[in-house]
Amino acid sequence: MWKDLTLDLTFPALDPDDAVYEPRSSRLLVRGLGENDVDDDEEDCESSARLLGMSFMNRSATQRSSASPYVRQPPPIPANDGALRFQTFPALDPDDAVYEPRSSRLLVRGLGENDVDDEEEDCESSARLLGMSFMNRSATQRSSASPYVRQPPPRSCSPPSARTMIVCVLFLVIVASMTMVLYFLPGCIFSKTGCPKQENKTSNGTDDELFPWAQYQLPRSIRPLSYDLTLSPNLSTMTFSGHTVINMFVLHNTKRIVLHSAHLNITKAAFKLGDGEPSDVTILENKPMEQIAVKLSAELKAGQHCVLTLDYSASLSHTYNGFYNSSYIDLEGNKRVLAATQFEPFYARKAFPCFDEPSFKATFLVKINRKPEHMALSNMPKAKTTHLSSDLLQDEFAKASVNMSTYLVAFVIGNFAAVSKNVSDTLVSVYSVPQKKDHTKYALDTAAKLLEFYNDFFEIDYPLQKLDLIAIPDFLAGAMENWGLLTFRESNLLVGEHSSLVEKQDVASVIAHELAHQWFGNYVTMSWWSDLWLNEGFATYMQFISLQILLPQLDMGNLFLEVRFRALDQDALNSTHAVSTGVNTSEQVQEMFDSVSYKKGASILLMLNASLPGDQQFRKGIIQYLKQFSGLNTDTDDLWNSLTEVEVSSQSPNVSEMMRSWTFQKGFPLVTVSRKGDEVTLKQEIFQLTVDSSTYSSSLWTIPVTYVNDSCGLAPECRQVFMLKTKSGTLKVPETVKWLKLNYRSTGFYIVDYGNEGWAALADALSNDFQALTQEDRASLIHDIFALSKLGRVSFRQVLSLLNYMTNETEASPIREALLQLNHIYQMLHKRYEQGLCARMKRYILNQYGALMDNQTWDMEESVSKQYLRFALLETACDLGQDKCKQHAESMFKQYVESNGTFQIPGDLQRVVFRVAAQSTEDWETLLTMYHYATYDTEKKNMIQGLASTQDAQKIVWLLNVCLNGKIIKAQYLPLLFRTICQNFAGNLIAWDFVQVNWNQITQTFPIGSFSFQSIINAVTFQFSAESHFNQVQWFFSSVRESGSQLRSAREALETIRLNQRWMERNLPSLRKWL
Ligand SMILES: [Zn+2]
Repeated sequence: MWKDLTLDLTFPALDPDDAVYEPRSSRLLVRGLGENDVDDDEEDCESSARLLGMSFMNRSATQRSSASPYVRQPPPIPANDGALRFQTFPALDPDDAVYEPRSSRLLVRGLGENDVDDEEEDCESSARLLGMSFMNRSATQRSSASPYVRQPPPRSCSPPSARTMIVCVLFLVIVASMTMVLYFLPGCIFSKTGCPKQENKTSNGTDDELFPWAQYQLPRSIRPLSYDLTLSPNLSTMTFSGHTVINMFVLHNTKRIVLHSAHLNITKAAFKLGDGEPSDVTILENKPMEQIAVKLSAELKAGQHCVLTLDYSASLSHTYNGFYNSSYIDLEGNKRVLAATQFEPFYARKAFPCFDEPSFKATFLVKINRKPEHMALSNMPKAKTTHLSSDLLQDEFAKASVNMSTYLVAFVIGNFAAVSKNVSDTLVSVYSVPQKKDHTKYALDTAAKLLEFYNDFFEIDYPLQKLDLIAIPDFLAGAMENWGLLTFRESNLLVGEHSSLVEKQDVASVIAHELAHQWFGNYVTMSWWSDLWLNEGFATYMQFISLQILLPQLDMGNLFLEVRFRALDQDALNSTHAVSTGVNTSEQVQEMFDSVSYKKGASILLMLNASLPGDQQFRKGIIQYLKQFSGLNTDTDDLWNSLTEVEVSSQSPNVSEMMRSWTFQKGFPLVTVSRKGDEVTLKQEIFQLTVDSSTYSSSLWTIPVTYVNDSCGLAPECRQVFMLKTKSGTLKVPETVKWLKLNYRSTGFYIVDYGNEGWAALADALSNDFQALTQEDRASLIHDIFALSKLGRVSFRQVLSLLNYMTNETEASPIREALLQLNHIYQMLHKRYEQGLCARMKRYILNQYGALMDNQTWDMEESVSKQYLRFALLETACDLGQDKCKQHAESMFKQYVESNGTFQIPGDLQRVVFRVAAQSTEDWETLLTMYHYATYDTEKKNMIQGLASTQDAQKIVWLLNVCLNGKIIKAQYLPLLFRTICQNFAGNLIAWDFVQVNWNQITQTFPIGSFSFQSIINAVTFQFSAESHFNQVQWFFSSVRESGSQLRSAREALETIRLNQRWMERNLPSLRKWL
């Protein structure tokens, strides 16, 4: 499955570790309103305070505590000075708009209409209502207005006498007791045979009989061999019926068969043992566990074959998982419907009863009944079509030639157009809705090249006859690697001829990732979700490696470097987890789709490859692994053992010994360097932003420390390796060496502290000649020194001292990293309303990078690294309000609007231009109209980010509502919308309220724990730093559900808020002194 790795690489999206917002409300109230005596530079800070005034000031502690009618009351927050309350927002009288339980519906009523005027009107009314809900609902208002507050019943009758009361109560108690006794005693008590013993059994809660299994993972006594699936979707009623035949093999004697089923109405079940006659059986269901069971009268014996046949019906899902419905508007304006699937990690059970765990591999024969005007696709090529009636056809697909986990099964029914070509013995096709057929060519060419590459690289041919890639109009997961039928979000597969290379890089990355899964994941599959990284870490690693070789013009190196930096940032939190870690519940499984499995997984594979001598051992090892475990399931140790077995050189480290230290303990090491003459001492300890030494003081890694120094230079042959396996170690360098740089090209997953002298020597070296180090090394020094400042190991003066060389810097990676980090600090100051420092930081950034910003072109640009560079520079310039940048963006937008589609904004600059345009009401509306008519999904995505950059609270609320309800903007973009909205101050506060108020709807669309869910929680909380916000977030997660506070996202959010507080305490004096 694809996780958008760039979502948290965007500019100036803040890194969760850094951003701080501490509303010292009373100060804000005094300063923020009614004062205009700040200079121009300070106006930015001022404007945010105005917004704050609008969205925050009016919510005093008591008001705020009533903000969400869906949740219990949060702990009290210190009250503001309420003098200016209610002055900045058009307050509604509580009687004007009663806050109904259906508030979310009220808020968006009518927003589905396409008429823009109507939408605006609704937008206004929604915002008015939300204004009511967000800002003006004081405790007293709410208690009198809200229907949630239970009103006492009218008391018109006189009270009964005491005697009557006592008699009535006694009578009621006796009747109730007898009813309860009869109700709770099982019927068997009164039978001759009595009750069965109940050891090891659990109540199913839904059926009268006890469900014979009580664990999340299924029993191992039965193994499915093959499935015959017949599905009959009805795209008019949005329902489907199914017929599933499962052939099974008995591994251990048992009297029950337990498998998965969710939301299926099973109408008939038959069981057949060996060659015997089928007989009807009763199905027990445990709905909370999404399991069904057949209890048999006679014991099945190991070695027997049996068949279970099930008929069922269900509704097509309205979410993004299981067998779900989707729609789009065709060129004639007609709504077209389709049905598609997304089964990873455990949603196949919503389409057919099955053993829905990755280790239960089987073969599949799929038949799909469809209308003549539709087409159907599945994992295998179509074998035949049968006419069932004049209006119904049945497509039968070839029986799978491979054993496959259930999460990889897929089918799609609808209208699609395709382009195809043959690669080796495989027919590669790219499908889209018919009107987007022109956007599929790049994907087809790229997929064809990648398929050849992987066939060659893994020395195992792709095993199926066909490979389809299909763009689904509604698709949450970015992309999914279903064997033979890869599904994609449209923006991740479709690009036009004029699309920029950065946009093509995105598409190529997703295809490379999903294709790599055909080997890593589909061919060899992790046994359980604990080792999800074997799928996702590998596919992420291969997406970079394959494209670096195959399409070097896409410049994947820079992107991979940034992925490693962000992986380190995330892994520095105490709430992180080991790469391979035990998971059980569905939330825990969902949470495995995170930065650690994807980014850290890919990063440690790079480190391993870089530390092996030669460039073939790694590849040989993974080929051996794929061949040895072909068609099987594995765990992390299987991979390390395969790589250890092919060691070809005596210099090779013991892979298993080294890599176990990186996969079975959480976090990563900080390596500190101290030098005396020619002797260099290296020490390792855990790098952890929240120190928890009691638990993790014993962490120890086998670190392949690489280093270069000025005595040799930058060439790869100058690189030396030192294996640091213990707490400390020493190495020798010539005494004349001036500087030493560890972690050559940042291929290792660790951070280095060089000590005061070491840092000074490196800063000097860069000041004299910035090309003394490679650009990856320069970028990694910048990343590391900011990370160390978070840890309190270096002063901000040292950070600035290193950055001094940057006026000469020309490469994208170091500049992007420095801008990202400086933007974080700017945003922190901005959100703390530190006007003076905010202005000084802005001046500092514009002084350091102003010349580079001015030198950027706004024309079409061919080089990806130049596109990356100018995007970072120009977005920062425009965000900081640099006049030249804003004027350029405004005039470009004007030209774009007036050209009537003939003038194209370069793809890499669209977001910059749209974000500037969205600041004016008129242009925001124009952008919204253009969004309706835009055909390219990449362009639509940029427009959403533009629209979401507005500082207008009403528009922000409107956007969130239409997106959550999938009107106008598809709900799949909600995480992106949240992230963009939260970049501005008011937006962040509105978004957090919105999440609380709409929690149920959000978690229905984005399952708790899933990466979209993680992304939303992260986006709305990572900028908080006040104690009151900490309490609020903590209270909210403990109130929403029993396990809420156990969610990793919740722990991460709370830890981040604490870190934000600490960062400011540590660095504010230093910033005041040195900036
Ligand atoms: Zn994946």
